[in-house]
Amino acid sequence: MKTIRHLTILGSTGSIGESTLDVVMRHRDRFHIVALTANSSYEKMLTQCRDFQPQYAVMLDEDSAEQLDVEIRKEGLETKVLSGVESLEKVASLSEVDTVMAAIVGAAGIRPTFAAARTGKQVLLANKETLVMSGRIFMDVVKQHQASLLPIDSEHNAIHQSLPHNFKGDLSEVGVRRILLTASGGPFRDSSLSSLEQVTPDQACAHPNWDMGRKISVDSATMMNKGLEVIEAHWLFEAAPEKIQVVIHPQSVIHSMVEYVDGSVLAQLGNPDMRTPIAHALGYPERIDSGVTSLDMFKIARLDFEAPDFERFPCLELAYQALSSGGNMPAILNAANEIAVESFLGGQMPFTAIPSMIEQVMQTISHKDVKTLEDVLTADAVARETAREWLTCMA
Ligand code: NAD
Ligand code: MG
Repeated sequence: MKTIRHLTILGSTGSIGESTLDVVMRHRDRFHIVALTANSSYEKMLTQCRDFQPQYAVMLDEDSAEQLDVEIRKEGLETKVLSGVESLEKVASLSEVDTVMAAIVGAAGIRPTFAAARTGKQVLLANKETLVMSGRIFMDVVKQHQASLLPIDSEHNAIHQSLPHNFKGDLSEVGVRRILLTASGGPFRDSSLSSLEQVTPDQACAHPNWDMGRKISVDSATMMNKGLEVIEAHWLFEAAPEKIQVVIHPQSVIHSMVEYVDGSVLAQLGNPDMRTPIAHALGYPERIDSGVTSLDMFKIARLDFEAPDFERFPCLELAYQALSSGGNMPAILNAANEIAVESFLGGQMPFTAIPSMIEQVMQTISHKDVKTLEDVLTADAVARETAREWLTCMA
């Protein structure tokens, strides 16, 4: 007998959200969608409501919620439409929900992801920003409320798959020497440094291997994404920064590796398609079909590896700095990066100004300890304000 999982998908209209629904669609007998959420794209949400008939649909934006509600009633659907951040938290913590896919992009995902952890859900974590901003606090909440955490980020999901089942948080206890975190190097791995000044948002979002949302695509182009992932790996696997080696692997076939003290290196491979880690986490511990095609080894033919270039990708260095400073710094790094990416995508500053803005913001704000989620949100707000001031000065 298959047990039915009752799901809330936070960020269902995004790239991860849509891939999640694609996997769910293949297993209607295993999953029941209780709630879907989005920012403002109510037309996409309407289609999802038709297809999955959730009990709740939450739009962060109130006007979009009203428009959705009108359409839902016109069609005679029974979905209840809600709006606002509190409603995101509500549907992440409903007693009838056992599993929450946390796939909102950016710091906006932190509150509902915490709400899911506080109510002991199985949290499928795509929103890496939660761990970057509040690693220790979030991991403590997960433990305290007996929530469980499965990583969706392909690298962390690969590491999870390459670790032994008895891993309880102490890497040396299970004989791990280090983690090899792979990175494609993004679209500008080989571009001349001088050409980066002229890069357009569309060029930055054209990732060679992965099809993703625009924010994470820009993060991949600056390699801030890998920096955020180093911090994410640090918290998920209790790995000291020096035990995490970033490896450039342009084909994105190896999704990450774990090296053991006996010299064995275990890797997880597959086509670069997020439905694999999503299906892994949705079905866990069982394996379920994801719709991803077989890896064609003959077509791939070769796998390449390079060391990361910190001069080309200053964001990677900034992330390591934020991790070693700790306290409010990772939240500041993340917030400054979100404003920088948004400004670059909006045509307000060049691609190469992204690391400059982040560095400036990190230098302007003093280091502080963070003990609560509120402390983290304060650091986030201060960093956003500082970043906006920097932008005004530059204009
Ligand atoms: P996306 O931009 O495609 O989708 C984001 C989703 O969040 C949408 O449903 C949007 O409506 C919702 N949203 C946006 N702003 C919101 C707000 N302020 N409040 C509430 N909801 C809001 O993003 P994505 O690429 O799917 O990424 C989602 C998360 O998954 C990110 O944290 C990203 O780092 C992570 N991730 C994505 C990929 C990928 O392949 N796309 C891979 C690994 C990790
Ligand atoms: Mg990743």
